[in-house]
Amino acid sequence: MAFEYKKILLKLSGEALAGSKGFGINPDIASQIAQEIAQVHKAGVQIGIVIGGGNFIRGASAENVSRVAGDAMGMLATVINSIAFAQYLQNCGVDSRVLTAVRIDKAGEYYTQPAALEHLNKNRIVLLAGGTGNPFFTTDTAAALRCAEIGGEVILKATKVDGVYDSDPMKNPEAKRYDQITHTEALSRNLKVMDSTAFSFCMEQKLPIIVFKLLQKGNLRKVLEGEAIGSIVKTGG
Ligand code: UDP
Repeated sequence: MAFEYKKILLKLSGEALAGSKGFGINPDIASQIAQEIAQVHKAGVQIGIVIGGGNFIRGASAENVSRVAGDAMGMLATVINSIAFAQYLQNCGVDSRVLTAVRIDKAGEYYTQPAALEHLNKNRIVLLAGGTGNPFFTTDTAAALRCAEIGGEVILKATKVDGVYDSDPMKNPEAKRYDQITHTEALSRNLKVMDSTAFSFCMEQKLPIIVFKLLQKGNLRKVLEGEAIGSIVKTGG
């Protein structure tokens, strides 16, 4: 396999692990995703993974708690997902490490950039948990930040839809999918690729983002081989 990208940051939303129930972790789906990842990892791609926490809790929608407390709960939810997903990767024969942005010694190693790079160089997948470690941010921002830190060539944002559309494809059957678009164009058209903090960071750092549908066998491999699956957002010129 000839890959276009050799070091990637994969962003999975918490909901991606939950399946149709929308809550918790669906074992069949988590296994399927782990297999897809294991396949490309075994072929030599270095992989950092940021998993969201929306399948358990999001700070902004937590009831009767302050935003900061809710966000701390959300960050811990991402740690739960990462600990679980490391086990699914292990079931596929892949060695991984959970690195947490907030110190929780028994759950994972404290994140530092050199530690993450060392694990990657030892052929381990790194699960970058706990978001950025700060409230008021999202795991999209954590994905963008960690991608820049580990020197990832691209952020792969796995979603339920197969790319970025000019309108909601669930509501508008005429919606048009972009194969390729620049950060500036996506911003001016107000396309929802990532939240605005994450997106402006990617634009500033000239980080390409590929939005694609993960739950389709072989899609991750195809994306890495440069097939036009999904949409790529990258700096023009
Ligand atoms: N979160 C946070 N700081 C971060 C990343 C995440 O406070 O840097 C909290 C926030 O409450 C967020 C929750 O963790 O709602 C789960 O993350 P996110 O909503 O990004 O998960 P996803 O929607 O991708 O499942």
